[in-house]
Amino acid sequence: MPPRPRKHPRDPAPDPRAARELSPDENAALCDGCVRCCSYVTIEVQAPRGPRDYDQWLWAVMHRGVSLYVERPERWFVAFDTPCGNLTGEGRCGIHGRHPVLCREYDPRDCERRLPLEEPRAWFHTADELERWLARERPAHYRALMRYRRDQPAAPPRADVAADRRRSGLVTIGESLAAATSSRTRNGTMRAR
Ligand code: SF4
Ligand code: SF4
Repeated sequence: MPPRPRKHPRDPAPDPRAARELSPDENAALCDGCVRCCSYVTIEVQAPRGPRDYDQWLWAVMHRGVSLYVERPERWFVAFDTPCGNLTGEGRCGIHGRHPVLCREYDPRDCERRLPLEEPRAWFHTADELERWLARERPAHYRALMRYRRDQPAAPPRADVAADRRRSGLVTIGESLAAATSSRTRNGTMRAR
């Protein structure tokens, strides 16, 4: 669900009813032709502070449909552009009446389609955007991130499968068969092992 929008001076006369008191028809009329708020997920996350936090969010926003934004005063959110699985082809909620409380409490009268959302301080759709913002707005954090990256190995140590196997005393099925075959060749018969 998106963050609550700011009240606008041109709002229609206030309707004292809570969102849940609107009838399904009233809700449908308000939302006719729109499915925007059922097409993404936003979750507030802890504000990143250290290089590892930033590295994690850089990784997240490298994925298509994942973005991160920060509001003023500082609150961080991760956003996933993904439609709800209950949204029908007709743009209706397929589980209306037993839909999550979060959806029931959401008031279509002051949704983002009608009112401006809180002004996000910054919105990052790519790792590059987040890095450039860090370099500009939080240079100390950016430098710490660069040091952290520099000090980490470029990749995990290379696996040495043969050495691992020798240490563990394990053999593969293929090796076992090969050994049995060579034993039969030497002796003319298959020896039990
Ligand atoms: S509440 Fe607003 S954003 Fe959501 S479907 Fe209705 S009109 Fe669209
Ligand atoms: S459960 Fe229904 S109201 Fe809630 S997001 Fe999904 S389709 Fe929309």
